[in-house]
Amino acid sequence: MSVISSLKSSGRFEFAALIAGLLLTLSLVGTVWFYHGLKAAEMVAVERHIENLSSYVRLDILGSVNEQTLAQQRMAVRLARDGVEDEHAWRGDALLFQSHYPFYRSLAVLDADLHTRWLESTGIVPARQGRPYPIDARYRSALAGAADGDLVVTRPQRLTDGKFALDFIKPIIAEGEPVGYLAASLSVPDAIGAMVSDVFRDKLKLRVTFGDQIIYPYPFGDSVQYQWLQGFMLDVDGEVDSLSFDFAISESSRRQLESVLPPVALWGGGAMSLLLAIVAFLGLNATYQTRVLVTSNRNLEREIRERELAEQELEYLVTHDPLTGLPNRTGSTRYLERMLEDHDADGGQFALLFLDLDQFKDINDSLGHHLGDQLLCEIPRRLAGALKDRDFVGRHGGDEFLIAVTRNDHEQIEQLAANILRAFDTGFAIKDHRFFISASMGISYYPESGRTVSELIQHADAALFKAKSSGRNQFAVFTREMFSQAQHRLNLSRDIRHALDAGQFRVVYQPIVSSADLSLRGLEVLLRWEHEDGYMVPPQEFIRVAEETGVIGRLGEFAMEQALSDLAHWKKLTSAPPWLAVNISGAQVRENGFAEKLSVLLHQYRIEPALLHLEITEEILIENLTRNRRMLKKIDEIGMRIVVDDFGVGYSSLAYLKNFPISVVKIDRGFVQDLAVDHEDQAITRTICSLSADLGMLTVAEGVESRQQLELLRQFKCSYAQGFLFSRPVDASAVEAMLNERPSWQNEEPAGMST
Ligand code: C2E
Ligand code: CA
Ligand code: CA
Repeated sequence: MSVISSLKSSGRFEFAALIAGLLLTLSLVGTVWFYHGLKAAEMVAVERHIENLSSYVRLDILGSVNEQTLAQQRMAVRLARDGVEDEHAWRGDALLFQSHYPFYRSLAVLDADLHTRWLESTGIVPARQGRPYPIDARYRSALAGAADGDLVVTRPQRLTDGKFALDFIKPIIAEGEPVGYLAASLSVPDAIGAMVSDVFRDKLKLRVTFGDQIIYPYPFGDSVQYQWLQGFMLDVDGEVDSLSFDFAISESSRRQLESVLPPVALWGGGAMSLLLAIVAFLGLNATYQTRVLVTSNRNLEREIRERELAEQELEYLVTHDPLTGLPNRTGSTRYLERMLEDHDADGGQFALLFLDLDQFKDINDSLGHHLGDQLLCEIPRRLAGALKDRDFVGRHGGDEFLIAVTRNDHEQIEQLAANILRAFDTGFAIKDHRFFISASMGISYYPESGRTVSELIQHADAALFKAKSSGRNQFAVFTREMFSQAQHRLNLSRDIRHALDAGQFRVVYQPIVSSADLSLRGLEVLLRWEHEDGYMVPPQEFIRVAEETGVIGRLGEFAMEQALSDLAHWKKLTSAPPWLAVNISGAQVRENGFAEKLSVLLHQYRIEPALLHLEITEEILIENLTRNRRMLKKIDEIGMRIVVDDFGVGYSSLAYLKNFPISVVKIDRGFVQDLAVDHEDQAITRTICSLSADLGMLTVAEGVESRQQLELLRQFKCSYAQGFLFSRPVDASAVEAMLNERPSWQNEEPAGMST
């Protein structure tokens, strides 16, 4: 997982945001709580302030009211002492009182039955001289009860100008009896305005209510909503109801009292909270990122370590052969390259030995791959006996091994090669099997035989080829001639591939005739290569190289397909088409699914299997008995015919032939060549013919060039003949002519010769 993707993935981002959000909320709540705490504390301070101020106001008012009632008291006492007849004296008192307390609207002296006797008023008053004083009836009894001199304060009364007024009524007691009353009507708004000093009025707002009626200030129309605190009560109305004095702090003094702390705390706290949240978010994210980075780094390191291990493992696999544990072709090349680099000329002679087991294939095929594998594992051990520790052994592939050594001189190296070959003499014992196998070797010297590893290998291989073709179980040292031969083979194989693609190959057909009536019975398919330089490359030359280099498979397929398609055409021209005798090389026989492939082709060209004869040499047949028998059986079951080609040159044992499903024996040209003169060849040919007949096989004599040869073959009861006497190999159009008309060789046939 990459760093970027892991950062993006998962809810970590959201988690950090959540935590940051939570912190923000918490600290905001804290801030608000703190703000409210500060506010509450401030409120308490304000309240205390109001309380303090209001108690001053209360003292002011009460003091003033006391003073007034005392003045009224004195007036009442004087009236009682002087008698209530001296109007003039009283008016003097009243005017003096009013000049002191201008907020009293009227002063009146009432009869005992509460009629207004004398009235001194300054404005709007309901009282009239000689009339009953406007006072609620319920105060009468209170006043009667107040005869002992108690003051009665009436409830506030709204007068015509809208202001509320209070009446202070004081009995005038003479000789224990009330002779009248002193009534003073006070305008509440004016009184309070006068009584509360200016200092307080600025700082405080005062409201006086009676029940739910606001009686001060007048008019009451302030739009500001104050928080009113009750300051004190003043009993009026005979102690039934009271005036409530409420206070609030004025806007200006509230502003003075308000501290900057709460808003600072609020805004500061808010900002801090936001900052905190951002820091937390960034911090958390950063921690995550580091953690993710750390884990991804750790993962990366582990991945690198694993990859290194895997690379080492891969390197080992790539450079080593799993079976023997030896360096394989790649590993050997790398190792040898290093050896060459480190090699200094004074260190001695460096040589590369290319070793190949002789006929390992046979062991593999006959005894099974498992045993073959075990044998291959034995080889390094066997080599080790002849080698030194510092010598190198690698497996080049299959049954080929590379050995690199440094010795004093050529002689020592060739001695070593001989020792290695001798090491194989003792034979091998593997799983109850005991068998002998030899090896062949090619040697190349550095720097004479090559300057690079690939040159040295290539040239050791060329020398190996020489050792093999000179009879195996030996070694050969690379020479310049081998180089040109090898070069030639290499060029040729490259040319063959090119020629195949360029269509330079074609097939020709050589008739095979019945020796009895010379009628055309079969056609041997022979490859021709017309080189682009214009000359014909003989099959002996290119077939061998094609076999060595593996291109024979493609060549064989080409010849087979070409011939089958020609035959498919000829089949339409005649009711008795000739068979095709196709030469098959060892490489083709060894190929897996060879028989099946042919079967498919036959089907494709709609050709009866019996019309296809496969010419296989003795050598190839016996090369791998077990395997070949299985394959030949398959071919036979399909219905194709098997021909033993060039019979007589190799093992020449007819005895084993009976173990194979062989239909035709083709007597080698070598026996036919001198048949007319060589009695031995005659004997051999006769024997082959009669024995074959006994075994139920037909015979073909190849290379028949003369009439004498043909005559003898007829005597020997040889079934068919092939040779220049009848026809050279010809192309498809010539074959078509032979099918249409009686072939020329039949025309020349003397009448007496036909049977
Ligand atoms: P082979 O199978 O023995 O083919 C017969 C060879 O004898 C042919 O040579 C043919 O031209 C030659 N021959 C036939 N009659 C006479 C005669 O009266 N006198 C003389 N002196 N020679 C005669 P060719 O075509 O040069 O082929 C040579 C060899 O090349 C063949 O020997 C065969 O082994 C191989 N060959 C040719 N075509 C193929 C092919 O398609 N596949 C394989 N695997 N081998 C092929
Ligand atoms: Ca042949
Ligand atoms: Ca032949």
